[in-house]
Amino acid sequence: MHNTESIFEQIADRGHERLCFHHDPETGLRAIIAIHSTALGNALGGTRRWYYESEADAIYDVLRLSKGMTYKAAVSGLPMGGAKSVILLPHREQVRTEAEARAMGRFVDTFNGAYIAAEDVGVDTQFIDWMASETSHVMGGETVCRGGDPSPWTAMGTFHGMRASLIHAGRGDDFSGITVAMQGVGHVGQNLCKLLTEAGAKVTVADINKKSVDYVVDTYGCTAVYDADILTTECDILAPCALGNVIDGSSIQKLRCSILCGAANNILGDPEEDAVALKTAGILYAPDFVVNAGGLIHLAGMHLGMSNELLQTKNDEIFETTAQILNRGNNSTSTYAAAVEIAEQRIAGTQETGIHAS
Ligand code: NAD
Repeated sequence: MHNTESIFEQIADRGHERLCFHHDPETGLRAIIAIHSTALGNALGGTRRWYYESEADAIYDVLRLSKGMTYKAAVSGLPMGGAKSVILLPHREQVRTEAEARAMGRFVDTFNGAYIAAEDVGVDTQFIDWMASETSHVMGGETVCRGGDPSPWTAMGTFHGMRASLIHAGRGDDFSGITVAMQGVGHVGQNLCKLLTEAGAKVTVADINKKSVDYVVDTYGCTAVYDADILTTECDILAPCALGNVIDGSSIQKLRCSILCGAANNILGDPEEDAVALKTAGILYAPDFVVNAGGLIHLAGMHLGMSNELLQTKNDEIFETTAQILNRGNNSTSTYAAAVEIAEQRIAGTQETGIHAS
């Protein structure tokens, strides 16, 4: 994460269109919006509220996340670009306020719809509705704007990705007795625990928030382990559902899973190299931006005017898309490379998006 490149070099390297910094004098809000690409359309991407050790870390995060959104939208067949925003909290425990959210909403509004905000880590439906009091370019609220919490849809899509992975690995389409180790049981993780345990899987969890762990243990019969042990827990499917950068070249040899499939964005420290190392290690990697697209599909689909039936169909398509990418990964350097190739072909206009918004 210690990038020695200048900001312009970083933007150019990743192919970004815009990186915009904002300070609101009244509230002290410090925020960044990164628009990676609008080649396929306006860009919808979440707002992350987070305490970063340095401004460089925040820039690194927003640049990586926004590029991931471009790939996510493209691989999901959405006529949308890729963007993301981050709010740099002054300290870890900073409580969200309406004034902060409204200031962020005004910042988002200056993009006139080229950027559409939504939930990410640290932002809930209330925060979104506060933002929506200042801009119509936001999705995922419950009262002032539409869409609601996208995490059940993200969990459903990730579940489809896991199904496709099991089938690809020759394990069939049945979760009975399948073991899943999940890091992070927040919004997405809890919904995923529900789907997996209902399907018969045995789920082991870890989270730095004890309340969340207790909830899934009591409600879904999950088993808890220490945070430090979850990534090396022996399991069929390892599902990182907390933050990114949890697996890299040095940790791959320690993994004891046969499938890596989770909802977190940017699971791999260096996706190009790490995905190749995973393949070499015999671990099937379902690329994060493919399987965690359910929330984006839901909110972007609503924004585009899709019917409820079409929203469901598009979410279910994550199964097919993952299966296609895993198959393509057999003849590619990695499944990540295969997914990026499809996304880039779509962005370059060489593949149909297959979108049918009504
Ligand atoms: P969340 O904030 O609700 O949950 C994250 C959980 O991870 C929290 O419970 C937190 O305590 C836990 N956590 C953080 N660091 C941890 C660590 N080191 N070890 C164990 N647990 C840790 O966020 P969410 O909405 O559930 O999103 C989870 C991940 O999925 C994020 O990476 C997010 O970007 C990604 N994602 C979310 C959505 C969505 O619809 N919410 C969509 C796509 C991708």
